[in-house]
Amino acid sequence: METLVTIERAIEIARQTPISPTIESISITESNNRILAENLHSKIDDPPFDNSAMDGWAVRFNDKHRTEIGMTAAGDTPTSIGQGEAVRIMTGAPIPEGADAIVMVESGLQGEAHPNFIRRRGENLTKGTVALQAGQLMTPAAISLAATMGHATIPVRCKPRIAVISTGDELIPPGDELSEGQIYESNSHGLCALLEKIGCTPILHDTVEDSVEGLRTALNSIDCDAILTSGGVSMGDLDCVRKLMEEEGDIHFWKVAMRPGGPPLFGTWNGTPLFGLPGNPVSSHLVFTMIVAPWLSPEIPLAKHVPIRMKDPVKGAPGKTCLRRIQIVSEEGELTGSTHTHQGSGNIHSLVAHNGVTLLPPDTSANAGDIIDALWFV
Ligand code: AMP
Ligand code: MG
Repeated sequence: METLVTIERAIEIARQTPISPTIESISITESNNRILAENLHSKIDDPPFDNSAMDGWAVRFNDKHRTEIGMTAAGDTPTSIGQGEAVRIMTGAPIPEGADAIVMVESGLQGEAHPNFIRRRGENLTKGTVALQAGQLMTPAAISLAATMGHATIPVRCKPRIAVISTGDELIPPGDELSEGQIYESNSHGLCALLEKIGCTPILHDTVEDSVEGLRTALNSIDCDAILTSGGVSMGDLDCVRKLMEEEGDIHFWKVAMRPGGPPLFGTWNGTPLFGLPGNPVSSHLVFTMIVAPWLSPEIPLAKHVPIRMKDPVKGAPGKTCLRRIQIVSEEGELTGSTHTHQGSGNIHSLVAHNGVTLLPPDTSANAGDIIDALWFV
């Protein structure tokens, strides 16, 4: 087991225990935001035939005077023209045999002819070209491309099924009446939403009390690709996730040099990868964003690295990368960052009121005006 690892090292260690994706074939209509499991080649030339890029007339470039002899539209079979002849043509219609240029409708029949207004067969893609690679995120554009290439079913990675369990005697479901000492359980709901965002299927379990026995029973009941727990990973006597994993599980790392989010652990429970996230709401979200997401789903980043100019001074943390919540905006040709709320790791409002975090290296602080690295949530 390694302790107090960097964020990069934590990702590296977790990646040594990948969840092995299985493959399923799904309808293209279901493929949004899924990850392609195999290369997709084009079944056809794109476009499949020479066609007009404009509404106008299909003509012979060298003709000085033209006579219209007919009309052709998208979906028609190709016609033909002879010398001095022109065919009224709509965008996407096949070029008549004998035509080699298009006159735009705006120019009139005797107007200027343009050979480059013909879209040539295969000019976008030739048959057999691999235009979508395994690992590609099926974005709306990728979906259109797959359809253009003739694919009705898409081989994708099965969505990993990830169990989410919160631990804590003080936690009760939102909506119930709070008694003294209780708070609403919030992490599991945010974590499930984060999992959905990165293409996983969250399986939400009931909150477990702070007991090793209760947690053991809950973990043993789980049949998932990985487990995310929240809370109970610190040094306290009741921190049952750490205790149980120490005694009966297998811990690969414990503690990451980041603030907030210091105490997470990663390992396996009966062979199933388990991420023990800290209970503080900001910490659990940020550990997910920084480490869990790049491990589970590197194809769908939750944030991008950007340089920003700080508008407010921010204090770093000794020995830890400091993730202050900041609002990143583009002004006068550069990105700036400012802080707006109390920064405590228990203040989840700080993650709603801001759209990014600083990546202040250990033992550094920033003054107003300094340019620093940051993460911009996407
Ligand atoms: P822990 O990591 O269990 O020591 O919890 C740290 C702090 O986060 C405590 O103040 C907990 O009450 C709070 N906390 C733990 N789990 C959750 C949760 N699921 N939802 C909201 N707050 C939590
Ligand atoms: Mg706790």
